[in-house]
Amino acid sequence: MGKVLLITGGSRGIGAATARAAARAGWTVVLSYRAASEAAARVVDEILAAGGRAEAICADVGREADVVALFAHCRDRHGRLDGLVNNAGILPRVARLRDIEPARWAETFAINVTGTFLCCREAAQMMSTRAGGAGGSIVNLSSMASVLGGGGEFVDYAASKGAVDTLTIGLSRELGPEGIRVNAVRPGLIDTEIHGSAGDADRVSRLVGSVPLGRAGSAEEAAEAIVWLLSDAASYVTGSVIAVTGGR
Ligand code: NAP
Repeated sequence: MGKVLLITGGSRGIGAATARAAARAGWTVVLSYRAASEAAARVVDEILAAGGRAEAICADVGREADVVALFAHCRDRHGRLDGLVNNAGILPRVARLRDIEPARWAETFAINVTGTFLCCREAAQMMSTRAGGAGGSIVNLSSMASVLGGGGEFVDYAASKGAVDTLTIGLSRELGPEGIRVNAVRPGLIDTEIHGSAGDADRVSRLVGSVPLGRAGSAEEAAEAIVWLLSDAASYVTGSVIAVTGGR
């Protein structure tokens, strides 16, 4: 059946592009989503129609019970897990510091950081060579916001992605001896629906002038870096954060 890859948030955007690219590369893809069941089913249908293997599972990475059930499904259905892409994430509405409520801060961290941590924890239990696994590769979705800071837009989101960077470095060192590589992709301005969810649908066109390559990136361009990091071609790469930012 080939190697098994779990992608969180595979119904849209970068996650969906990664699911298609990984399936083309031979992975059996399990993609999760929170609400967009029809979009997730469309991604699965496209992959199946192209001769690949995929399924979609509803699971909120912000809920520990959902995450545990998601990985239990992978264990029961496939008996193995070789790759994990922690892609699910939210971008809160544009706001200045004084308008950021603690509840919004907590939700951003619950999904972007705690969700990533929970999935890494469950994946490591299945992948670890010390626990009888075959090793594996984890790719976390960071953001250029972790470097730029998100000032005036969403410092909570930027800080959550800074936590993802640090988690990536720490886990690469902790899990390397167990056969698990842990890396991150740091997208810049990628043209997906996430900017609309931030209440700023024009954000991409407004900021594109600050990108040295002169355009926004596509979800497919981000997916290329993710699939490479997952692959054996990146067998000596761990603890790395690859910027896919057009130079921004
Ligand atoms: P997107 O188009 O908004 O898609 C987000 C995906 O995450 C959807 O599949 C969504 O599922 C899922 N999701 C959201 N919350 C979830 C939860 N609690 N549990 C499970 N799934 C959840 O986003 P995107 O632009 O592709 O971004 C993907 C990742 O890249 C995110 O981590 C984002 O922070 C990061 N990133 C994006 C950009 C960019 O410019 N686009 C730049 C830097 C970093 P539903 O469809 O069911 O809601």
